[in-house]
Amino acid sequence: MSWFFYTTLWALSLAGTTWVLADNLPTRLVFLLALLCLYLITLALGSAYPRMNFYFASVCRGPADQGWVSLTFDDGPDPKVTPELLQILKDEGVKAAFFMVGRAAEAHPALVKRVEADGHLIGNHMFDHQAGWPFRPAFAIRQELARANELLAKLIGNRPRFVRMPFSISRPGLVRTFRKLNLTPVGWDVRGLEGVYREPARIAEHVANEARNGSVILLHECYYRTLDFGPERVVETVRLVIARLRERGFVFKRLDEMLELEGYIHEA
Ligand SMILES: [Zn+2]
Repeated sequence: MSWFFYTTLWALSLAGTTWVLADNLPTRLVFLLALLCLYLITLALGSAYPRMNFYFASVCRGPADQGWVSLTFDDGPDPKVTPELLQILKDEGVKAAFFMVGRAAEAHPALVKRVEADGHLIGNHMFDHQAGWPFRPAFAIRQELARANELLAKLIGNRPRFVRMPFSISRPGLVRTFRKLNLTPVGWDVRGLEGVYREPARIAEHVANEARNGSVILLHECYYRTLDFGPERVVETVRLVIARLRERGFVFKRLDEMLELEGYIHEA
């Protein structure tokens, strides 16, 4: 059972107990309102921080006894970033994981194939990357995840097993969806916070400071679109992130190898 289940059970039990024990209606209402606020805050925190494993357990880190880290890129492919990014990764001998948006993959199929051909892992980041996805019905979320997986499987000949939900948000009911589609949710324990640090050197410094053995590092391919600078900054950031992490002695592992999990679904 998830933390969501226990939190809901506790909230309902407390609400019931209050209703029975409180001696007047205003006291009951004030207490229930406070309880409701607390419950909603907990749900919001659980939605925003996948590391809390509030609704479901996601893999956020590899083994702590090895000096390995793994780079992951969300939101691509992007014709202005992906080719340069692949070049940097090739020059540096780093294999990464790309959590792709189905619609972007559909628009740039050659890039998807190049990412795979270069030896990187491809994961599912939903078909559309809409902010409102947690409010959609479970069947619609399932359809969208399945659609992205079908498309990626058609392009690379392998069905992704790893999924990362857009904006790293979670919500109730996803466990069943993941189980049905045979997907493994993957989170992160270090993120670039590119929108906060903005400068490539500062982003790289932040990542290097936060990283520890087994870190799954979340970076984005397309954040330049929402900020006021060009796509070359994304590539520069990755170059510096790799350099700073190497200075600290970390070794880069592809996500599935670091986690020792199958990155693709092999149907019998
Ligand atoms: Zn995303």
